[in-house]
Amino acid sequence: MHKLNATYEKQAVAPENLHHFIATMKEQGYVGCNVTIPHKEMAISSIDLPDDRVKKIGALNTIFFHNGKSCGTSTDGEGFFQNLLSQVADIDLHDKSVVVLGAGGAARAIVDKLLEESPKAIHVINRSVNRAQQIQTDFGETVKAGDFQSLKSLLPTADLFVNATSMGMTGQEPLEVALELLPKTAVVADIVYVPLKTSLIQNAETLGLRTVPGLGMLLHQAVRGFELWFGIRPKVTIELYDLVAQDIDPGYRS
Ligand code: NAP
Repeated sequence: MHKLNATYEKQAVAPENLHHFIATMKEQGYVGCNVTIPHKEMAISSIDLPDDRVKKIGALNTIFFHNGKSCGTSTDGEGFFQNLLSQVADIDLHDKSVVVLGAGGAARAIVDKLLEESPKAIHVINRSVNRAQQIQTDFGETVKAGDFQSLKSLLPTADLFVNATSMGMTGQEPLEVALELLPKTAVVADIVYVPLKTSLIQNAETLGLRTVPGLGMLLHQAVRGFELWFGIRPKVTIELYDLVAQDIDPGYRS
């Protein structure tokens, strides 16, 4: 479609080789890369220029080159938000209450992005409460840290509920949330995309709530990286969604 002579490949890089891999990427012919677990934090010290978002979040997922320097950014927050808008076009989070489950790298990126929408509060709920408290310290008073027990009192006033943990992913612990406590107008988003429709999303649909499954975030977060590598801003189309969805679940039909 864009007539690029390029490939996108998976490279397993051991932690002890990460610095060397990044330092020699350009001479190996790479225009950039995505970075995933467990390198998202460590890669920062191997690049020349982390952007402000990376410094704030403490993690990157995209490396590119500019004026001969290796640069890093995080596109997860933008990917989450664009996916949210693609499913709930009229969502307005100004002065609204958000509950984010999880306090890992993805949760930090999502909180950073959602704060731009001036919500009343973002409640970050995590098993290890100290990680949620760290987000509160790093991002300011709109963020309120809590534990799983506090969900019961928070859900009845939440406008947006986000699962940003790995719970509910195939092979991980199941996620059970009392979604019936949410207002009927609430939106439920899951960033887990294997399975394509998690039980959280299924349960929310059964309750008639608006839902945002996670695969769209993966596609939308890739847009900025592609643009930084090739100077072309691709569109996330239904055809692209179907192609990736079928790769994850061959039984998938749009
Ligand atoms: P991470 O930094 O390792 O954080 C994992 C989070 O999940 C932590 O908050 C952790 O809690 C929580 N968690 C894991 N197992 C748990 C359990 N059994 N009970 C309670 N909490 C549990 O990972 P991440 O990078 O933030 O990614 C989180 C998930 O999002 C992954 O499944 C990843 O595949 C997915 N993701 C999706 C996209 C997308 O494009 N859709 C993008 C990025 C990430 P503790 O702090 O207590 O350990």
